[in-house]
Amino acid sequence: MNRIVYLNGAWLPENEAKVSIFDRGYVFGDAIYEVTAVVGGKLVDYAGHTARLHRSIGEVGIVCPLSPDELLAVHREIVTRNNLDEGLIYLQISRGAADRDFHFPKNPVPTLSMFTQAKKVLENPLYDTGISIITVPDIRWGRRDIKTVQLLAPSMAKMEAEKQGADDAWLYEDGFITEATSSSAHIINAQGHLITRQLSTRILHGITRLSILDIARHAGITVEERPFTVEEAKAAKEAFVTSATQFAIPVVRIDGQPVGDGKPGPVAKKLHQLYLEHHINNAI
Ligand code: PLP
Repeated sequence: MNRIVYLNGAWLPENEAKVSIFDRGYVFGDAIYEVTAVVGGKLVDYAGHTARLHRSIGEVGIVCPLSPDELLAVHREIVTRNNLDEGLIYLQISRGAADRDFHFPKNPVPTLSMFTQAKKVLENPLYDTGISIITVPDIRWGRRDIKTVQLLAPSMAKMEAEKQGADDAWLYEDGFITEATSSSAHIINAQGHLITRQLSTRILHGITRLSILDIARHAGITVEERPFTVEEAKAAKEAFVTSATQFAIPVVRIDGQPVGDGKPGPVAKKLHQLYLEHHINNAI
């Protein structure tokens, strides 16, 4: 890999970008991140991702070192410098380096890093095959609405899924699905309603989720924002996940049981198509 990455105002070859071992992102997981999809060299759903970025840093009291215009300019420049046609931009802001102390440092200088990953996001074969998931207890912390880098629990859930021969895991708490390891979880019930958990501190406020719900409502689909149980998910007509780089992917098996007829369902496919039509055309 020979990418040019961004670190605190500098453009560097990836192997020359270094962060202090005292950085609080490294020592305390005291950092937040964002992932924005890139298609045709343009940023998909960028307004939503920057809005959530500012919300996340506001919740933990980190100050963004760049203005909104500078942030957009850096996103554009990293695409250009890496000749990125399709893939993603990863952005992370930590509170910065300080001597190890649970108290936040007095005048921290945040660490802002960004890199690109080339990835075929439009031609993912999973759109046609769907994915299998297992359900596992949600052992994450109580502020899942903040997009922090504390991703060990979902990483472990993903490894458990792999061990059991599944593609991913859906997390549950008190019998209700919260979300997937790295995407929002949705089902279509017998009445054709889209059911998805309402926003709270229990889930990440998925930007793709927000757009998909809007698209679904415009397409005349009834949306119910409420918790749904593992049993409801297994009895659903369809299930699917949404995220910035996967858009909408059908879930065809839950804990080894087929969802509906075990094939990607028409509603998930339609929402995926509508999302692409709207958001790829409006990418900036
Ligand atoms: N939920 C979790 C836990 C995630 O990690 C992600 C994405 O990383 C999502 C949902 C989907 O969010 P978005 O649509 O903004 O990518």
